[in-house]
Amino acid sequence: MNKHPHFNFDNSFARSLDGFFSYCDAETSTAPKLLQFNHALAEELGLDPVALDSEFGLAIFSGNEKAEGSETLAQAYAGHQFGGYSPQLGDGRALLLGEVIDTQQRRRDIQLKGSGRTPFSRGGDGKAAIGPVLREYLIGEAMHALGVPTTRALAAVATGADVYRETVLPGAILTRVASSHIRVGTFQYGAARGDVEKILKLADYTIERHYPDTAEADNPYLAFFAAVADAQAALVARWMNIGFIHGVMNTDNTTISGETIDYGPCAFMDNYARGTVFSSIDRGGRYAYANQPEILIWNLARLAETLIPLVDSKKERAVELLTETIECIQPLYESYWLTGMRSKIGLTTEESGDQQLINDLLKKMEEGHVDFTLFFRHFSQALRGDSEEVRQLFDKPADFDAWEHRWWMRYEQEGISAERTAQSMDEINPIYIPRNHKVEEALAAATDQEDIAPFKKLLEVLTHPFDEVEGNEAYAEPAPKTNIPYRTFCGT
Ligand code: AMP
Ligand code: MG
Repeated sequence: MNKHPHFNFDNSFARSLDGFFSYCDAETSTAPKLLQFNHALAEELGLDPVALDSEFGLAIFSGNEKAEGSETLAQAYAGHQFGGYSPQLGDGRALLLGEVIDTQQRRRDIQLKGSGRTPFSRGGDGKAAIGPVLREYLIGEAMHALGVPTTRALAAVATGADVYRETVLPGAILTRVASSHIRVGTFQYGAARGDVEKILKLADYTIERHYPDTAEADNPYLAFFAAVADAQAALVARWMNIGFIHGVMNTDNTTISGETIDYGPCAFMDNYARGTVFSSIDRGGRYAYANQPEILIWNLARLAETLIPLVDSKKERAVELLTETIECIQPLYESYWLTGMRSKIGLTTEESGDQQLINDLLKKMEEGHVDFTLFFRHFSQALRGDSEEVRQLFDKPADFDAWEHRWWMRYEQEGISAERTAQSMDEINPIYIPRNHKVEEALAAATDQEDIAPFKKLLEVLTHPFDEVEGNEAYAEPAPKTNIPYRTFCGT
């Protein structure tokens, strides 16, 4: 496939979904500067990284110039935020530049985030500060490297203008890449507008784009719902397996594709604690770590409601069919989660006691204030004959011994060499995750000192989360213990 400096935009959303967007333009940036450009992702998109890591790219990623073929638009959506319904949200600070077909023939959205006001901005300024932009860049790329479906970052640009939050902050724009930006909230927007034609058009478009196989099913819209549920259950299981807390699992932040979207107040847990909440606005702990699977089902039930008229002409029958599918989500999630947890502790076969074994471990970890990431990483050392490192993670190391003994009894049934198991564990249990204090350090340097170097270094470390590198020890360590709990903010 030919690489081209220009984007070969093919804008199917604009062509197909009249009524779900408004055309509008980016605001211009006064003194833009390219902070970071993702060469590997540009390659994957079939773009020419060298041609784009340039003044030409800067003009596009700052919103100062419109690339050929780009039809910039803001998408409309509704959504439940913290359980309360908002009939009109929409891209208040984001602008779709267009869609490209990547080197693997996948359709991908390219979007600016922070490029100024749109018809959906309501009271907001449509802008983004450098901190949240770099945060989304870092955590999204870290998630990708960890093998979690996610939106990606193609570029981060400083605009040269100030944005006003609690303080005055340097402005920035993120160029975000997604397999689409269609959300549960997009369906809610269509359904709320009352006519079946509108939701039908959206469903048909989304099926063709994301789940074409479901078009062949006896009941395509029911099959579509089941496919979304499957993708989202797999996604949230991955979050739980790596200790990720999204923080704003509103229906407008729940993609139909099954990609993680919207890295606002998200963060990774240090010590395993089911009730962990980082977001300053999540006062009731609705989106706490252990609530995520349940919230997912709640969000999918909101999607199901929008599909009722498509699933069966008799409402009662439609509700019955959708409810049956909703009831399958919990066990489906559990099985994804269990598969993930089994491999984290080196098990490749399935035994009936595994779930109990894993739950007992987690209980011990919570009681012993054990770092979630380091436990699994150091556990492979136990297979190599040294349990000391993992034991020392517990407040009382001896508390681990009885569990370890049980684990060895179970592991004996595996019949794989310990070294091979240890190796495969190290390939899925990261040593480097975006540690909260490291992320904050990098964002503060960029915001307060215009020093992007700590961000670049952290990004490089997080891009290879499984490969231990000498000299990077500080990136593996949990934050020094303080009495002040870590808090994140939406950055809006
Ligand atoms: P979020 O919490 O990022 O999912 O955003 C929720 C809604 O608020 C979306 O409709 C956003 O487009 C909108 N929004 C967030 N920040 C801004 C901003 N600075 N200006 C305008 N709209 C915004
Ligand atoms: Mg959002």
